[in-house]
Amino acid sequence: MDPILERYHALEEKVLSYNPGADTKLLYAAFQYADSKHSKQMRRDGTPYITHPLAVADICADLKLDMESLLAALLHDCIEDTDASKEDIAARFGEDVAELVEGVTKLTRIKYASLAEKQMENLRKMLLAMNRDIRVILVKLCDRLHNMRTMQYQTPKKQHEKSLETMEIYAPIAHRLGMAVLKYELEDLSIRYLDPLGYKEIENQLNARFSRHREFLAATQRRIETRMSQEGIHCKITSRTKHIYSIYWKMYPQHKTLDEIFDLYALRIIVDTVADCYNALGLIHDMYKPVPGRFKDYISTPKPNGYQSLHTTAIGREGIPFEVQIRTWEMHETAEYGIAAHWKYKKGGRNAQGEEEAYEWVRKLLESQQDTDAEEFIKSLKVDLFSDEVFVFTPKGEVKGLPAGSTPIDFAYSIHSAIGNQMIGAKVNGRLVPYQTVLQNGDIVEIQTSKSARGPSRDWMNLCKSNEARNKIRQWFKKERRAENIVNGRSSFEAALKRNGYTIEEISAPEILPRLLRKAQYNTLDDLYAAIGYGGMTSIKAVNRMKGELAAIAREQREAAAATDHLDTSGEEESIHVSTSLPPIPTPPPRTVSKTGVIVEGIDNCLVKFAKCCAPVPGDPIVGFVTKGYGVSIHRADCPNVDPKKRKPEDAGRWVEVSWSKNKEQQEYATTLEVYAKDRPNLFLDVAASLSAAKVRVDTINARSTPDGYATVFILLTVRDRYELDTVIRKLDTVSGVMTVSRGKG
Ligand code: MN
Repeated sequence: MDPILERYHALEEKVLSYNPGADTKLLYAAFQYADSKHSKQMRRDGTPYITHPLAVADICADLKLDMESLLAALLHDCIEDTDASKEDIAARFGEDVAELVEGVTKLTRIKYASLAEKQMENLRKMLLAMNRDIRVILVKLCDRLHNMRTMQYQTPKKQHEKSLETMEIYAPIAHRLGMAVLKYELEDLSIRYLDPLGYKEIENQLNARFSRHREFLAATQRRIETRMSQEGIHCKITSRTKHIYSIYWKMYPQHKTLDEIFDLYALRIIVDTVADCYNALGLIHDMYKPVPGRFKDYISTPKPNGYQSLHTTAIGREGIPFEVQIRTWEMHETAEYGIAAHWKYKKGGRNAQGEEEAYEWVRKLLESQQDTDAEEFIKSLKVDLFSDEVFVFTPKGEVKGLPAGSTPIDFAYSIHSAIGNQMIGAKVNGRLVPYQTVLQNGDIVEIQTSKSARGPSRDWMNLCKSNEARNKIRQWFKKERRAENIVNGRSSFEAALKRNGYTIEEISAPEILPRLLRKAQYNTLDDLYAAIGYGGMTSIKAVNRMKGELAAIAREQREAAAATDHLDTSGEEESIHVSTSLPPIPTPPPRTVSKTGVIVEGIDNCLVKFAKCCAPVPGDPIVGFVTKGYGVSIHRADCPNVDPKKRKPEDAGRWVEVSWSKNKEQQEYATTLEVYAKDRPNLFLDVAASLSAAKVRVDTINARSTPDGYATVFILLTVRDRYELDTVIRKLDTVSGVMTVSRGKG
C-alpha cells in the first residue's frame, strides 16, 4: 500500500480505538483535502508535505483529542501554505473546524522577534488569551512537537531559533496546561539544540550506565510487584530514568554529578483508588528506607496545574536512591495529558462537559496559578484569560500590553509621545481604521505619522483608554498650544469669576494678585490660564481656591479702614493708604520637591542629566559638571571621568557640588552592572533567574564569552536607589561561578 495511505489508516485506527463512533468519512475527507492542497510541497527531509499534518493529527490522537481538533490538525497548514480559504474549509468541515484552523494559522504567523523577558511573558499571556478555544493551543503544541521532532533537517540557525522559542514559549504553556508528556519532550528536544555539548554529555553518561540502570530498576520493580500482589493491591508499575532536561538543570546549575541526583531513577505505581495510594506508600516505606524530607503529598494538596500524586524517595538495596510516584489512573491521565485529559472525546458528540463549562475549568486552572511560588515558575507568568489587558503587535513583531479597550491612540502613545503627536492614521492588520477602533488580542497595529501632523485633537482624550495616552495628550496641549490655551483658559476663568461676583480687574490689583496666585499655586495669571486651557486645572477650582483669600483680604481691608478711621481723628489722613496696610508679601519659598532627585549647589530642578558612563542612582556620592549645552551632567564621585587629577584647569569652574534630594519625583533610575564569571552552561539563565528573583526591572541583558573560559554579563536595569541595587548585587554574587559583580563602566 502507499506509505502515506498506510499512515492515514494507522491514524484512523488509533482514533477508532478511543472513539469507536468517530466519523472516519470526515477524517478521510480532511486528509484528502489537505493532501491535494499540499500536493506540490515537500518537507525538508524530502517526504511529501502531507506527512507533517498527518503526524500532527497522530500526536493529537495520542492525546485522545476530539474529532474537530483532529480535522484541524490535518488542515492546520492549509490556510497558511496553500490557496485554501477559511470559507472553503468552513463549508466542507464546519465553522468550528475553520475557526480552529484559523487560530492555529494566526499563531503560526506570529514573529518572535527580539524577545526580552517582559516580551515573552506578554507573548505567553497573549497566546492563551487570544484563543477562547483552548483546542487551538493544543493543536499548535502538537504541531510544534512534530516540528521539533524533525528539527534535524533544518539549518543550525533555524534549529536554534525554534528551540529557544519552544523552550521559552511552548514548553511553559504545556506545563501550565499540565501536559507533562508534551512538556518533557519539547524541553528535551530544545535543549539538545540549545546546548548540544551539555546534552551530549548527559546522554553519554546515561548510556554508559544504561545496563546497570535497567537491571536495578527491573529488580526493584519486581520486588515491589511481588509485595503488592501479596498484600492484594492491584497496580501497574512502570520505571524510567529522568528526562535529560531535568537532569541538565540539576547537574549544571547545582554542580551535581549524575550519581548525586536523587531522583535519577523513578518508579511509577498506578493503583485503582486513593486509599490504595496511601497503602502502597506504606508498603514502600516498609520495604525501603525513605530519604527524610522527600515525601510530598500532592494528593491532598494538588499542584497548581492540577497534578496529583504521592512522591517519596527511598534507598534501594544497592544503596541507590530512587523516586516513587504513586497515583490513581485518573490522576495519571491528568498528570500526563493535563488539560487534554479533560478535553478528550466523550460519547455523545461534543465534549460531555459542554463547552462553556470546560472553558470555565480552564479559566479556573489558569487563575489558580497566579500565586504560584517562584520555584515553580521563576518567570512568574501570570495568565488571566479575562484580564483587563489586551496584547497587540508592533509591525516588527514586538508585543505590547495595553489596558483592555485600548485604541490605536493608546498604542501610538505607548510607543512614544512623538508617535502619538504625529499620528495621521492607523492600520490594524494592514487595514486603515478609525481612531476609536478597539484593539483585539493579536492585532498587528501600525501607526502612520507625519512631521507636519497637526497634533492630537481634544476628543482623543475621550477615545483613549490608558492614563499614559491621556497624560501625554494633555502634556502636548500644555506645551504646544500655550497661546491658545491662555485665551481659552482666560475666558473660562473670567466667566467663573463673574458667576462668583468678581471681576478680573478686582483681582488683578498688584497688591493682591500675587497672594491669590499663590493660593491657586501658579506664578502668573497666564500660567493659570494655560493650565485651565489644557485641562490641568478647572476654572471653578481656581476661583474656589481664591475665594477664601479674597474674603481674607476684604477682612484685612475692613480692619485697616477701621484703623484709618481711628487715625483720622489725629488728622494724619493723607499718610495712610489702604493698600500699604496689607502685610508684606514674602517671596515664595523654593519648591521642595526635586524632579530628578538632584540638587545642584542648593538649587532644585536644575536641568540635569545622568552620565551614561557611570549611571548614578540615589545613595551614590555624586558630582556635577556643567555641560556646554545641556545642563548639569551628574557622575558618580568614583567615575574615572571625574577623577580630580584628570580635570582640566580651564574647566575648574564647571565642576559643581550636587547632592540627592529627599523629596524627588523620579522613582526609577537606570544603571548598569557587569557580572564577571567562569563560563558554564546556563550561566546566563541563572543570572537572569536571580535578577527575576530580585524583582528588578531589567531592560537589556547580554553576555560575552571570552576564549579563556570566562564570561561577562552586561545588565541594564532600573532601580529605586543604591540600597536596592546593593541587594541585587548581593543576589548576583551568590550565583555559582560568579567572580565579581561591578557597576558598569560605560
Ligand atoms: Mn505545521
